[in-house]
Amino acid sequence: MQRYDVVIAGAGIAGSGLATVLARAGKQVLLLEKTRQFRDVVRGEWIAPWGVVEAHCTGLYPVLAGVSSHHLPFHVEYGEGIDPAEADGQKLDLRSFLPGVPGPLAIGHPQACQALFDAAVAAGAEAVRGVEGLEVEAGPRPRVRYAVDGQPFEAEARLVVGADGRNSQVRKQLGVELFEDEPHHLFAGLLIDGVPEWPEDLESMGTEGSVQYFVFPLGGGRHRLYLSYGYEQKGRFSGEEGPQRFLEAFRLPSVPGSEAIARGRVAGPCHSVPNQSTWTDSPVREGAVLIGDAAGFNDPIVGQGLSISLRDVRIVSELLLGSDRWTPELFAPYAEERAERMRRLRFAARLDSVIHAEFGPEARERKLRFREARAKNPLIGMALAGVMIGPELLPAEAFTEEAWQAAVGV
Ligand SMILES: Cc1cc2nc3c(=O)[nH]c(=O)nc-3n(C[C@H](O)[C@H](O)[C@H](O)COP(=O)(O)OP(=O)(O)OC[C@H]3O[C@@H](n4cnc5c(N)ncnc54)[C@H](O)[C@@H]3O)c2cc1C
Repeated sequence: MQRYDVVIAGAGIAGSGLATVLARAGKQVLLLEKTRQFRDVVRGEWIAPWGVVEAHCTGLYPVLAGVSSHHLPFHVEYGEGIDPAEADGQKLDLRSFLPGVPGPLAIGHPQACQALFDAAVAAGAEAVRGVEGLEVEAGPRPRVRYAVDGQPFEAEARLVVGADGRNSQVRKQLGVELFEDEPHHLFAGLLIDGVPEWPEDLESMGTEGSVQYFVFPLGGGRHRLYLSYGYEQKGRFSGEEGPQRFLEAFRLPSVPGSEAIARGRVAGPCHSVPNQSTWTDSPVREGAVLIGDAAGFNDPIVGQGLSISLRDVRIVSELLLGSDRWTPELFAPYAEERAERMRRLRFAARLDSVIHAEFGPEARERKLRFREARAKNPLIGMALAGVMIGPELLPAEAFTEEAWQAAVGV
């Protein structure tokens, strides 16, 4: 039986990030990962400015910057009913949101996971890949059991951390209930190469016809694309022809450069997920804590999961390193802050979904009315700024029924 300070299940951004911070501070860490190689599973590749701040605070930014320092300085919304020249003139300067942050960071997800995993090992964490049949026991003497190549192992720790993603086994084994809102639409992603025509410093989002599109340049002619589409169109981008149909759907007359995108070379799988947010009453149990998607995740429409994970890493590591008494009470501030953070981000994601991911003439008119109203009064739909600067920096009034009505009822 091996003994550790902390056993972390799942070596994604959240798990590998926390393992790095704790191992650097001298803690004995065991990091357990199911996969033998990080692959493109269509996850986040856009870290919001507030997530970049968290990366700096945890000391993880240099690790991520070793993979990519491709910050995106500009954002433009094209789409139906919007004149492209006018849209270009209203381009958002993403460098202006938080001091010292030159815009969101665009970064390959598998590469970021690998870099953080390597950093954890370099800092002294013991890391195991190919982990199967993970079993977690919380309580006063937390322990894990798992197998690798059929050989069983058992380890004891002062704390077990579940960082095993949206379908977390650890969460289920701890009996932590996951609440979820109704899926609003579907969300598909695809990586493409070979499109040097699209400006590398310009991210773009907008709605046309039956899709909401996103383009996030990663540098070198590579782009991460997403499409939101109606829930009733399940299967639209699935199967062998899915990636090609996805690219065809990118031929959007109101989006300059979308033809070049549609001619791009498929560089990864095409997956869809339902757009919804989930949350828990508390991600804490005696001897165990959940972080990242395992603790409940935000609807990917506003791209917050990586930033959420990095904040979880910061808060949980600060609590662990600031006290020797690792009781559930120690994590109360984390549970409280996370609950409100996720509530606010859920509000922002739902607002964005109603404005940009509903389709048809009525939805189009609502989007254009919202756009016009916001240009006159930036306080309308203010919650959406929270996905850039961090939801806690906005006043509570930005997330009320009145704020919702002011944005959607315009
Ligand atoms: C389509 C889509 C687009 C997104 N876009 C964005 C975006 O642009 N920006 C953004 O910030 N966020 C985005 N997100 C969210 C973001 O990807 C996630 O929030 C983030 O990856 C969560 O990190 P994590 O480490 O908690 O979980 P994961 O990244 O899921 O990592 C969990 C790890 O645990 C491992 N694991 C799972 N089960 C076990 C087990 N039983 N034993 C051991 N290991 C296990 C997995 O193999 C994996 O490596 C998006 C999500 C989706 C679905």
